[in-house]
Amino acid sequence: MTLPLADVTWIHGAADCTHSTDPLIQVYQYDADTFVLRVSKCFSYEGNFIYLLFGDNKAIMLDTGGPPNPVTPFNHGKTLPVLQTVDAIVAQRKLGGGVDVDLIVAHTHSHNDHAAWDGEFSGRPRTTVVTTVLAGVKSFFGLPNWPDGEATLDLGNRRLTVFPIPGHEAAHIAVYDPRNKWLLTGDTLYPGLLTIADWNAYRASAARLAQFGDKHEISAVLGAHVEMKNVPQQLYPIGTTFQPQGHVLPLTAVHIQELHKACVAMAGNPHQDVHDDFIIDDPQ
Ligand SMILES: [Zn+2]
Ligand SMILES: [Zn+2]
Repeated sequence: MTLPLADVTWIHGAADCTHSTDPLIQVYQYDADTFVLRVSKCFSYEGNFIYLLFGDNKAIMLDTGGPPNPVTPFNHGKTLPVLQTVDAIVAQRKLGGGVDVDLIVAHTHSHNDHAAWDGEFSGRPRTTVVTTVLAGVKSFFGLPNWPDGEATLDLGNRRLTVFPIPGHEAAHIAVYDPRNKWLLTGDTLYPGLLTIADWNAYRASAARLAQFGDKHEISAVLGAHVEMKNVPQQLYPIGTTFQPQGHVLPLTAVHIQELHKACVAMAGNPHQDVHDDFIIDDPQ
């Protein structure tokens, strides 16, 4: 029996990263075909969560992690070993004939903390690195009517649903995994400070998420960061490298409806709006 997501103890940085013995990446295996990687906050304060999902003949990873913090004794001379980590997982899952699965390196959205290590994968065999540019995202997944419509990505007996949720960033997508009933929401919804570049696009995306939630069973809403404390309405300072009492990673379908209702209520007058498990930031 795997440890439930809400019970995982994630690496969470250190008060003094000089003496941190954390790995640069923590690997959590949820089931035989599903992995969540967490980047050390001592290496990259964004502490991204990276999702790696396998089907019978393909795998997709969402995001490649963020840039290093300014040089410290902890990260001096190191690169994030995300390629090596993924290689080691893939190597244990050879197909017939000893062939590796095809790997798709895609992104929840284009921000650098989600794509800083794309270059590591550019020469990797059997690998497609999806551009972070909107036109490329639309054509790779097959979303010509962006931001409307949805697409299917079949990994082999695992058909993901992909749909646009711009607003935090213009090329942001959500990914639904019907096997685990996970909805991956990147930086659009997670336990933290939800920053918004385009308010009208964002609230339309919140409505789209709510509609999707009405029609599909969702066991967990999983974003790319944790910035809240495990105390309602309390946020760690952005940029901190130490979050000893972090909020659990998974949010729920109820949070999707809560986000949507809050966006509707603020439609013409957006402002910072503090909720127990996330904070909608004042749109820039
Ligand atoms: Zn972002
Ligand atoms: Zn981010």
